[in-house]
Amino acid sequence: MDECCVQLWRVFWQIRTGVVKILTLRHCIGRVQLFLAHGGSMDDRKQALLTERRARRFSRRWLLRGLGLVGLGSGAFALTPARSNSYYDGPVSDHFDGVRFFNPGGNNPEGFGRFLKWQLTSRAEAWPATFAPQADMMPKLSAEIQGNVQVTAIGHASFLCQTGGCNILIDPVYAERASPVRFAGPKRVNAPGIAFEALPQIHAVIVTHNHYDHMDVGTLKRLWQRDNPRFITPLGNDTILRDEVGAIEVVALDWDQGMTVAYAANSGAAIEIIAVPTQHWSARGTRDRMHALWASFIVKNGSTTVYAVGDSGFGDGRTFQHVRTRHPKIQLALLPIGAYEPRWFMSTQHMNPAEAVAAFQLCGAERALGHHWGTFQLTNEAIDAPPKALALALQASGIAVDRFVPSWPGVKVQAGIMRIKDW
Ligand SMILES: [Zn+2]
Ligand SMILES: [Zn+2]
Repeated sequence: MDECCVQLWRVFWQIRTGVVKILTLRHCIGRVQLFLAHGGSMDDRKQALLTERRARRFSRRWLLRGLGLVGLGSGAFALTPARSNSYYDGPVSDHFDGVRFFNPGGNNPEGFGRFLKWQLTSRAEAWPATFAPQADMMPKLSAEIQGNVQVTAIGHASFLCQTGGCNILIDPVYAERASPVRFAGPKRVNAPGIAFEALPQIHAVIVTHNHYDHMDVGTLKRLWQRDNPRFITPLGNDTILRDEVGAIEVVALDWDQGMTVAYAANSGAAIEIIAVPTQHWSARGTRDRMHALWASFIVKNGSTTVYAVGDSGFGDGRTFQHVRTRHPKIQLALLPIGAYEPRWFMSTQHMNPAEAVAAFQLCGAERALGHHWGTFQLTNEAIDAPPKALALALQASGIAVDRFVPSWPGVKVQAGIMRIKDW
């Protein structure tokens, strides 16, 4: 249980905080009104104040209790397992039990009780309202690689991947907040690396899973209306997209299934997109936990291979070994390095930078960009903790820091010479 619950919890908490503020403001206004109304005698004022205080305390107490009960009630409701799958109806497999998807080998998300413990017993580091990276935080990729691809970071886990004349977006999120609602939830602290209007014509959109910081239906709707791209997503998410985006063209893939999205403009080689196993989970609300599959994706154009991981726990590393076996010679891996504290709660869902370095070694990629940090605060660590921890982990593993760098909105990686521009 990670960002979906964090987002729902923060929405609930912000509403509660807002109500408290309104009540406090009302209280102050009431005091002024009382003073004005009972300006004459001190005794009259005291008596009226006492009566008014009792009435307000009663209503405030009951309102806050009511809100608390709503929060706990929805948590308890979340614990009640739904008996049928909301999105997907298919055969049982080694990662689908007939109702829910699961991670083979265990490592499924923590429950609501542990989530409450996290929220109530620890404090998140404060993030600034706006954030730009320091130069020393951002080592540059320097090595040359072979291939035919350009990847541009848009922010958080969103990327534009261009190869063979085909423009592919990965987990595009242009919303101000990674949240089910517009008025509350984690808010972005920097602008997208490519403005929406500046995006080239998009041919395909990959959505790795249905958490709000990866599946932003507002952005997907705008893309569909503008470019009619093909959507590619793991099993079950096609139902959500049809419900929320409209009559779109969407292909749902199981792990290790792939499809051809286009043929490269010059070579005629197939541009393939393949879903691969990942340790994570899914939910949009409280009753659809694990009802849709999650995945990472391989984007392949001839001998050029990009491995795009959305969210992933490390587990025993089997998913990264699996990818290396099936897709050797990855030129570039997009690996998440953020949203990992506290470890006792997050480790099954999100890697920390040290685990991301281990994943980098296991998957055999030549180079990597570290994403999922620095734009939306989902967990406890400080905003600049991931790149610092990444540098230490690379050093400890004896890996040159220019092979695996933190990505940043606007960072651009080009095959031939991998280089970073625009910051
Ligand atoms: Zn997620
Ligand atoms: Zn995420």
